[in-house]
Amino acid sequence: MTTLTLEQETNPWEAQAARFDYAAKKLNLDQGIWKVLRYPTREIIVHIPVGMDNGSVEVFTGYRVQHSIARGPAKGGIRYSPDVSLDEVRALASWMTWKCAVVNIPFGGAKGGVICDPKKMSQGELERMTRRYTAELIEFIGPEKDVPAPDMGTDEQTMAWIMDTYSMHTRQTCTAVVTGKPVNIGGSRGRREATGRGVSVVCDQAIQHLGMSIQGCRVIVQGFGNVGSNSAKILAEKGYTVIGIAEYDGALYNRNGIDIVALIAHKKAAGTINGFTGAEAADKDELLTFECEILIPAATENVITSRNAAQLRCKILCEGANGPTTTLADDILDDKRIFVIPDILANAGGVTTSYFEWVQDRMGYFWTEAEVNQRLDSIMTESFSDVVAYAKSHLVNNRIAAYMLAIDRVAYTTKQRGMYA
Ligand code: GLU
Repeated sequence: MTTLTLEQETNPWEAQAARFDYAAKKLNLDQGIWKVLRYPTREIIVHIPVGMDNGSVEVFTGYRVQHSIARGPAKGGIRYSPDVSLDEVRALASWMTWKCAVVNIPFGGAKGGVICDPKKMSQGELERMTRRYTAELIEFIGPEKDVPAPDMGTDEQTMAWIMDTYSMHTRQTCTAVVTGKPVNIGGSRGRREATGRGVSVVCDQAIQHLGMSIQGCRVIVQGFGNVGSNSAKILAEKGYTVIGIAEYDGALYNRNGIDIVALIAHKKAAGTINGFTGAEAADKDELLTFECEILIPAATENVITSRNAAQLRCKILCEGANGPTTTLADDILDDKRIFVIPDILANAGGVTTSYFEWVQDRMGYFWTEAEVNQRLDSIMTESFSDVVAYAKSHLVNNRIAAYMLAIDRVAYTTKQRGMYA
């Protein structure tokens, strides 16, 4: 399917562009619209001075990339990580456009990132960095323009600071400028668990589609942050057997199932999954190749590559993370007939509940957790069947089907609005 070199394999922007081009070609996409949708609308680079606790001043580089506003305000998280790069943020921004279109919610796509190591910064340093980053972006974000949310390295507290900084500048409390906030200041019930809940819904759909059953369905999860831990917890509650958890600093295996609630408590106390007594230690890379029914990469990009894809022994690969699989790995997974639930579908539960949060903020009326979860369930279920039906009717794999469905929706809107060109 692709002519990417191994070096290009792990560049997320190249990976995104390769899938986009392939899907656009299959769709016979108009050349002009192809060019418009291939590149982001706007890329903002900011250099953020921060007074550090030791009295020195550090300057951090941050980005906000708005890929598309064709279907609504730009939408997408902000990532704090030492590995952030402009190419990564670009890729993540376009994935947000496709993700919002796959689940058919009225947003475009954006992403932000700051090159920093949040684990090595104090709360005060993080707060000052977040506020200055927000101030630098003040005219580019807003409930009708671009609505950030949490991503790797950011959380509800980060969103509270952004909401407050934006509100101080606009001289009025404006909760709808970000989603993923604490529940008492305009957050939505169920948002914290939403990505994991969405992952569990598409797993339910996939096993039903493949004629499998929850009973005896073994799951391995890579990553135990917000997405990984909530996916594991909700799947375990539904009766799946979570036999393995891998993290950046170790892995755990128990063929009879790991007690996820106990593991969450252990990680909270110890700061790591290591040392948990309810499972044996395993090698974090090898664990991905253990036999299981469902493998869920839920951490970061480039986890399933041409180096390990052939060794996978799962039936379903459910992508809780953004971009965990490279393009070269896609071909190998196709050959192995692994049923892939692509990232832009599998992890869309987060942004779907962000949409609910934005709606609730604008109404000033908040839903019960049961209402949120029920609405999330039906959107994820419907989107799963849309993608699988598209794959069947166009004779493509699920990933390309999801891209085609999304590109088709965005292209349709772009044509309808007409181009200001
Ligand atoms: N960062 C999450 C994602 O990649 C959530 C984005 C959002 O809620 O806007 O989908």
